[in-house]
Amino acid sequence: MMTEPETTPTSNPMPASPPSGQPQPAAGTMPGARLVALVNEEPEVLEPVSSSGFGLVNDSTATPVAVPKVATIDHIGPELVPPPPPDPASILAAPGIGAQASPTISEPIIALSNVSVQYTNGVKALSDIDLMIPHGDFVFLVGATGAGKSTILKLLYMDARATSGRVWVNGRDLTTAKSSDTPYVRRRMGIILQDFGLLPRRTVWENVAFACHVIGQSRRETRKRLPEVLERVGMLHRADAYPNELSGGEQQRVAIARALINDPPLLVADEPTGSLDPKTGAEIMDLLAETAARGTTVVVATHDKSAVDRLQKRVVALSGGRIIRDDAVGSYGVDDLEETT
Ligand code: ADP
Repeated sequence: MMTEPETTPTSNPMPASPPSGQPQPAAGTMPGARLVALVNEEPEVLEPVSSSGFGLVNDSTATPVAVPKVATIDHIGPELVPPPPPDPASILAAPGIGAQASPTISEPIIALSNVSVQYTNGVKALSDIDLMIPHGDFVFLVGATGAGKSTILKLLYMDARATSGRVWVNGRDLTTAKSSDTPYVRRRMGIILQDFGLLPRRTVWENVAFACHVIGQSRRETRKRLPEVLERVGMLHRADAYPNELSGGEQQRVAIARALINDPPLLVADEPTGSLDPKTGAEIMDLLAETAARGTTVVVATHDKSAVDRLQKRVVALSGGRIIRDDAVGSYGVDDLEETT
């Protein structure tokens, strides 16, 4: 039996403080513009789940659902130097990108061409990055803390903007995308972060169902897809559990289920095993590798040396905001990464 969710307004469970150096957001806006705002902003009222637990109540009985706030580039923009006008010549010159207006399915799902990112505090997080990732690839981004791994991922989900160069994701030029396009861009990818980002007062089922609602999935689709995806991550038997009743690995599995609910062509994960013990971390990495084996493109930023060495996937190593190594079948390496661990 599923636990009935509360229907009273609740506070935002993840009032993520903006990183130091970032401007405070205006009252009523999301702090920090974290992607998790797409799914982690607890709604004021969540649709009740049917007693079977396998679907949402029908329209006639459903409580109106408050639309969650979604982070937009407006909340991000002030921290970044605005990009200069696009240079069409550089786009046409980008490897893997033809003269067409947009890449086709045969083009890379991700294409970064001569990308640099400078934050408004003057830090140049990325310099002259060229990176092509074909559909279905599994790529590890490795490098010391501050090397620029997260900034690359943030470019992909529009939590950061290129200061110069071009960023193509899922056939879209994100350097010319509007802030209002952000939710649509994010809808075509799953995002996994180190801290899981589950709604603490919602069950496993409700956490994933809420993500379905946010992406506009129909109730019929949700009823069909939710058990499948929970089963795939091995969490269907814990559908009624609350996050604090789960281990870290189980919470990350739920986060992965939530990210996969839309069957996105692209999954990006930022330190997905960072807070897990080695054995649990290995299970989560295996789950991501399985996801890639089903055709989803997976990009993982990680310090997890054992996983990188074990899985033998493509490894892109960063140092000081530059790509210093790109091995089709690589290992973590340490000599060039200035790692101390
Ligand atoms: P990594 O993920 O490899 O640890 P990041 O991409 O997070 O690296 O950071 C790259 C550089 O950009 C670092 O020097 C970091 O301090 C800086 N940086 C990251 N985010 C911001 C931000 N929001 N504002 C200013 N500087 C930032």
